[in-house]
Amino acid sequence: MKVVLKNLTKKFPSRDKKSKAEVTAVDNFDFEIPSGMLIGLLGPSGCGKSTTLNMISGLEAPTSGRIFFGDEDVTDVAPENRGIGLVFQNYALYPHLTVHDNIVFPLQNLRGKDKLSKEEMDKRALEVAKLVQIEDYMERKPSELSGGQQQRVAIARALIKTPLVLLLDEPLSNLDARLRLQTREEIKRIQQKTGVTTIFVTHDQEEAMSISDLIVVMKDGKLQQIGKPQSVYDEPANFFVAKFLGTPAINTFEGEVKDGFLYIGKDKVLKADGLSDRKVFVGIRPEGFVIDEKGPFKCELKAVEVMGRDTSVVSTHEGMLSSSIRSIIASEDRPDASLKEISFSLKPSKVHLFDKETEERLLF
Ligand code: ADP
Ligand code: MG
Repeated sequence: MKVVLKNLTKKFPSRDKKSKAEVTAVDNFDFEIPSGMLIGLLGPSGCGKSTTLNMISGLEAPTSGRIFFGDEDVTDVAPENRGIGLVFQNYALYPHLTVHDNIVFPLQNLRGKDKLSKEEMDKRALEVAKLVQIEDYMERKPSELSGGQQQRVAIARALIKTPLVLLLDEPLSNLDARLRLQTREEIKRIQQKTGVTTIFVTHDQEEAMSISDLIVVMKDGKLQQIGKPQSVYDEPANFFVAKFLGTPAINTFEGEVKDGFLYIGKDKVLKADGLSDRKVFVGIRPEGFVIDEKGPFKCELKAVEVMGRDTSVVSTHEGMLSSSIRSIIASEDRPDASLKEISFSLKPSKVHLFDKETEERLLF
């Protein structure tokens, strides 16, 4: 089921009762989520992710704009009639019910022609329990399960009515690091097996990048960019997106384009064809540095950290905006840590330039 958001906006009255100012939590969202995909809705805390999801589920009414599931306008349809499955950070299982009873719960208030026999409910419960691999724990209470298992139960419950759209709001945030990794792979597997259009909200860029078919990056209620994780990483629309994606983070500098070349500080580091003279922000991915004695980018060497296959070189430069530069190089190129200076050449595809005013990426 494709999901279409048309000029979707949500304004809240300010939480400060004395203030008349409004908060625009979601600002004019206009995009389409293709059927059968896993979408990562990504952005820092407070950027409007939950509000967007809540409007798609119907828990929150938009201030303006429309929501379509396929060709049907569902903006005014009640949440229980939209055909959605919802999973939240805090599982929200009934503590006094068994796993089985939690999973069949959504089926129990079906009435009329939708009403199911006990056998049919048990059969469906077992199917979804198998899908999330929780079938051996059907008679346990939630308190007798790990956080990861509880979240699987919540996912099974969300799937039992075969939703058209599955909505997950930070589903992994309460899990420890190892379970988080494992459960996100599980979600990917379940999504691929069911083919249900899934929207996965997270503030964790690595999580979103690792499992999403498409990521939607937002900031301050505004859409920044939609695309395949790798394309958004390789071609960020603006300085914010460039800084938000990637571990270690992109290295940032102030620079200047002069006579067709990019300068960072005194160093003439790269050809920048087609750009008129101007000051710019520069982002260089950690993998964009090549150690090269004759390289134009001259930095002060601070530390060399060996991390298995790769080596991380920490250095500084007069033009940098952060407190240090982190570059990742192959271990066989590891520099002598006692050196004071280190020279790099740069891989052009890993260097991004941004307008100083708009912070939009400049093509060169
Ligand atoms: P996220 O899920 O990305 O952390 P939210 O969608 O929860 O962000 O919130 C977006 C913005 O809307 C925040 O500034 C938040 O304070 C505000 N907000 C959310 N819900 C309400 C509400 N019920 N009343 C007032 N402001 C709200
Ligand atoms: Mg949220």
